[in-house]
Amino acid sequence: MNGAIYLDYAATTPVDPAVAAQMARCLSAAGDFANPSASHAPGRDAAQRIERDRAQVAALVGAGAAQIVFTSGATESNNLAILGAARAARSAARHVVTARTEHKSVLDPCRRLEREGCQVTWLSPGADGVVTVQMVADALRRETLLVSLMHANNETGVLQDIGAIAALCRERGVLLHSDCVQSVGRVAVDAVRLDVDFASFTAHKLYGPKGVGALYVRGGARSHLQPLMFGGGQEGELRPGTLPTHQIAGFALACKLAHEALAGEGPRLAALGEMLWRQLAALGGVHLNGAGAQRVPGIVNVSFEDVDGESLLARLPRLAVSTGAACDADSADASYVLRALGRGSRLAGSSLRFSLGRFTTAEEVEQAAGDVIAAVRALRGRSPRLGPRETPPRVVASPDRPAGSGHARVLIGEAGGPEAEVWVRFQVEVDGDTVKAARAQVLGCPHTMDVADWLCGILKGRRAAIPGTPADWAHERAVPVEKLGRLLVIEDALRACLID
Ligand SMILES: *Cc1c(COP(=O)(O)O)cnc(C)c1O
Repeated sequence: MNGAIYLDYAATTPVDPAVAAQMARCLSAAGDFANPSASHAPGRDAAQRIERDRAQVAALVGAGAAQIVFTSGATESNNLAILGAARAARSAARHVVTARTEHKSVLDPCRRLEREGCQVTWLSPGADGVVTVQMVADALRRETLLVSLMHANNETGVLQDIGAIAALCRERGVLLHSDCVQSVGRVAVDAVRLDVDFASFTAHKLYGPKGVGALYVRGGARSHLQPLMFGGGQEGELRPGTLPTHQIAGFALACKLAHEALAGEGPRLAALGEMLWRQLAALGGVHLNGAGAQRVPGIVNVSFEDVDGESLLARLPRLAVSTGAACDADSADASYVLRALGRGSRLAGSSLRFSLGRFTTAEEVEQAAGDVIAAVRALRGRSPRLGPRETPPRVVASPDRPAGSGHARVLIGEAGGPEAEVWVRFQVEVDGDTVKAARAQVLGCPHTMDVADWLCGILKGRRAAIPGTPADWAHERAVPVEKLGRLLVIEDALRACLID
């Protein structure tokens, strides 16, 4: 993997080699490639194969084969459970309870229902990420039809007490759906014992292929679901379409392997995660998100004080980790989960999610920790709060001092702040009207740091005046337009420094 250290297993996993081999066999003429709906012998073989595979998938969540509906993945499973339950509900049942920290594939269908006139209660978990039974109890109404709460959070790994919430829902006659994507395969999940009505999981988070997943439907809960698509009787009329035999064959073997690996992998990943956190914690000024709660092994989400998330990531080229920083489109909103836990946007934005998995070694964790520690130290060394203060305190410029007098003055100008997107401090040494040296301390994105450093270089030897405009700098240093606002902060800091 081109030297990368892959610590993003919560985003997706590589397919286990045995799973890939199984899928390849299934695809070929010698395999169970036929349409399982066909009545000829190859079709019947494929159908039998699917039913064996279905039982294997079901076994991972303690269910029976009849309770598994194959889908294209957990996004579809979540949509089917939420929209399907709302469509099947009696017209008076128009209220859904969920949490702000759910995955987008739960939030978006719930928002859709809201636009269709359904009431939605958006629960905010406590600072530890936990949604308590009491919070759910307080949200339930006579017209509540469904509660949808995830088992383990994909950003923090925080586990919810779904069993207790299920007991409450059962007592109150409300359906319960749980997105179990991040718990299935990481901890033992028994959907029957948890007593949920619907549970979503997906193959590609447990070393199976992308594009196939399942919805567990409790026996007896089928009548509370309507299909979202039409076009064939497959999957008990809940999900039409030719079943992807090779995907399902891969999913089933992945489930079997995950089941077998669970007892050993859980403790191993927990120990590696603990080791990673202990090393990072030694830096000081770091926060383990979800620290007070039960978490699945292998997900470690850490916020770093006094660094910018984007600059941090830019200094970690060989780490494949996920971030709360708003630097790439996919994760632009990743920090909504951390902000829901009460983290300010700066801390939420300077967080890294390390998710460890089957192929993660202790050596990789050591290397990752080393890289992060070095990057955080380097950035903090340049932070206006923590960087070295080798310059004397601010000397007010005195206009009557003659130029070239040999009496250098240090002018200090600052803009932005610790909670703002950018915090810049310039220290410019001038002699008369000429800049002798200039230095910038920056807490901000790589573009901000680059422009500030570049300006320091330009100023040296020149008249002490602001060289050009933010638009010029953006053009010169190829700063994207959406970051222009940050250059205005640089201008403010320079102005505070040079225009006395
Ligand atoms: C990945 C993920 C999903 C989406 O699963 P897909 O199979 O990729 O659609 C849903 N919920 C959670 C918590 C996830 O981590």
